[in-house]
This record gives sequence, structure tokens and C-alpha cells, in this order.
Amino acid sequence: MTDFQKLSTYAAAFIHPENDVLARMEEEARQVYIPIMEKSSIAFLQQLIRWRNVKRILELGTAIGYSAIKMRIAAGPNAKIVTIERDREMIDEAVKNIQKLRFEDSIQIVSGDAMDELEPVAELAPYDLILIDAAKAQYERLFLKYTRYIEPGGMIVVDNVFFHGLVCNLDGIKKRQLHGLVRKVDHFNHFLSERDEFDTVFLTVGDGLAVSTKKPLP
Ligand code: SAH
Ligand code: MG
Repeated sequence: MTDFQKLSTYAAAFIHPENDVLARMEEEARQVYIPIMEKSSIAFLQQLIRWRNVKRILELGTAIGYSAIKMRIAAGPNAKIVTIERDREMIDEAVKNIQKLRFEDSIQIVSGDAMDELEPVAELAPYDLILIDAAKAQYERLFLKYTRYIEPGGMIVVDNVFFHGLVCNLDGIKKRQLHGLVRKVDHFNHFLSERDEFDTVFLTVGDGLAVSTKKPLP
């Protein structure tokens, strides 16, 4: 059998950052372990944005602004991206990066916990696409909370649904806390696949990407 990790590395090597700011962000993230989206995952998401002419995006989990900037590049100058982050230091970094590229008119960072009611989020709804890339333990609650902000045809993309491959090796995980978290992600994947109002596909890209489209009304 072909080594999946090897193949992923091979495929990701074809993807190059669009500018120096992004290149530096990739380097910084690698050095200090900031879990930005994997190259193939964000590249796929960019294609999805181009295919569907996505303009209004909501992101849960900004970190240093890497995926928000990448999505903005794919969606073009008319994009409106709202991105939620609760970590003050991350926000400061993201603000700087977004300013370097002069994207501050199209990317709005909302400071706070995505589980709370945050004012600007409802204002820009409905969104064409929602990216869930926050705390894994909260995926189900975040999904339930934010589905109301998309209409039929709208998409929800969830990152890290394979949890470094651990979801298909649950029994091999000895650490209790990790086991619990992986089980939660596995539960979420089942929950997601069972949502009647969505069509979902799980993609073996990066750390696993779930792409769900809200079905038209019957
Ligand atoms: N999307 C980013 C990476 C996000 S990493 C990129 O690819 O560039 C996950 C981020 O989500 C972290 O910065 C963490 O602080 C934030 N986060 C996790 N749970 C959150 C919550 N409930 N509300 C707001 N931010 C959250
Ligand atoms: Mg992620």
C-alpha cells in the first residue's frame, strides 16, 4: 500500500505561498507550533472558494490570520471575512499580518469566544461559507450554533476531522485525556454525517477536511 503520509508530503510540496508575508507566517507557525491549516487543505479550500464564487466567509479560529488571508486571496477584493479568535496574542499577530497585506477592509477579526453571542457575526449573515477550525472538543456545539448563519447551498468546512489519523486508531490510544478528545472528534464526524439537512464528504486532505453543503428546502 502506498504510504499516505509520503504522498501527502509529495502533493503539498507543489503548493507555494502567494507572497512573502504568507511564507514568513508558515515559517513562524512551524517554529512555534501554531496549528495553521495544512497546505493542501487550505489550497483545496481556496479552489472551493473560486469554484463557488464565495464572498462572505465566517471563520472560527483565526490564530495568526493565515487561513483568513489565504481565503481572502481566493475570494478577491469583494470578499467579506469575519473571523473569531479568543487569544489576545494571536489577535495581535493576526492584525499585523492582515495590515501588512492591506486586507483590513475585507477581514474583520472579532475578539471573543465563538461560543458566546458576538455582535458582528449576525450582522454579516448569511455566509456563503463557514470554516470551523477552533477547539476540537467544541465542534458539535459550534456546528449547531452556526448553522443558522448559512442558507441552502451554503457550505460548512471543518478542519482536523481526522486528528492526525487517530480517529481510526481509537483503541491504540493509551492516554485517557487524548482518548477522550479523539472520541469526541469521531463522535462529531458521525454526528455530521447524520445531519439530514446537509450533504457531507470527508476528504483525506491534510489533517482531514469535512465539507458539508446545506441542502435545498424540500
Ligand atoms: N484557522 C487558522 C488556525 C486556527 S488554530 C489558520 O489555519 O491559519 C485554532 C485557533 O482557534 C487558536 O488560535 C485558538 O485560540 C482558537 N480558538 C479555539 N477555540 C476557540 C473558541 N471557542 N473561540 C475563539 N477562538 C477559539
Ligand atoms: Mg486546523
